Amino acid sequence: MNINILTDFEVEQFCRIVDASDKIVICCHQNPDGDALGSSLGMDEYLRTMGKEPLVVVPDAYPDFLQWLPGTERVVRYDKYKERVDAALAEADLVMCLDFNTPGRTDKMADALVASPASKILIDHHLDPDIDVEMKISQPEASSTCELVFRLIWQIGDFESLTRKCAVPLYCGMMTDTGGFTYNSTRPEIFFIISQLLTKGINKDKIYRNVYNNYSEWRMRLMGHVLYNRLVVMPEQHASYFILTRWDLKKFHYVKGDAEGLVNMPLQIKGMRLSISLREDTERDNLVWVSLRSVDDFPCNRMAERYFNGGGHLNASGGRLMCTIEEAEKRVREAICNFRP
Ligand code: 5GP
Ligand code: MN
Repeated sequence: MNINILTDFEVEQFCRIVDASDKIVICCHQNPDGDALGSSLGMDEYLRTMGKEPLVVVPDAYPDFLQWLPGTERVVRYDKYKERVDAALAEADLVMCLDFNTPGRTDKMADALVASPASKILIDHHLDPDIDVEMKISQPEASSTCELVFRLIWQIGDFESLTRKCAVPLYCGMMTDTGGFTYNSTRPEIFFIISQLLTKGINKDKIYRNVYNNYSEWRMRLMGHVLYNRLVVMPEQHASYFILTRWDLKKFHYVKGDAEGLVNMPLQIKGMRLSISLREDTERDNLVWVSLRSVDDFPCNRMAERYFNGGGHLNASGGRLMCTIEEAEKRVREAICNFRP
């Protein structure tokens, strides 16, 4: 199967930039998810097999259920080691920007990223990239950035030397960005890639368990609370939403990542086309995190852009509101009732 994504010239350009670079920094978006961290670790391992020693930096904490990924011990957090990361970005020859389309998605790290004199390569699958880079590998139709990293390695001709340690995070990111291959994953290329990754000795069932059957007791109880006490269903609009207040989060001993995936659940209700979650920030007042999920051709990214200062993919998007949770709820109801794509 032909899974090439670049022209010959672009392959040559990528290899030339990497070959010429000694100090390489790999970075991804804030609140790194499985795809952001997976693509970063996969790229890190690939470049290591090529004799490079990149530094993987993330803007802030990633969820506990990704801690098992091989290579996380080397990841440096910007919110903890700002000076070290600032220095690395200032001295880098090459910065790889993975799984984000604009510097703002790296939050507080954005200034240092933009100011870095390094060559930059973007590899991403979000719409409308807006970032100044030397090379842009942007494929919004891809399932995940991990898929793109695999296809890049494949096209360069380095599949033979792709290690298990590289295959595991790449598979993980493809899996998490498609909800365990339940959405955005109908193209045959994806399953061709999976079949190739399996030849590297990855245990896909174990990867699934590591990510999805790894909840704390409190996360499970939080899920029950959301579905029983918080879910608001608007059948006529084929939509639902729920709110997690700071009080809820405290009561259920919330730790980062505990709310991950909850927003998908209401879509299991017959006829649902849209699900929205609102979560109060645990520290900052007047900051509410919004997650949206939709099915079929409902463009929840457009809704996120118009109503929630965000964006994302057709069926999975996010954003934020600077207001109280009560005002945020009003905004959600308004979006559900008034939005026309
Ligand atoms: P989540 O609901 O898991 O936080 O985000 C779902 C998807 O929306 C992710 O792919 C994420 O990259 C994207 N997303 C979340 N927040 C934003 C945002 O503020 N802007 C943009 N452009 N995309 C976002
Ligand atoms: Mn992604």
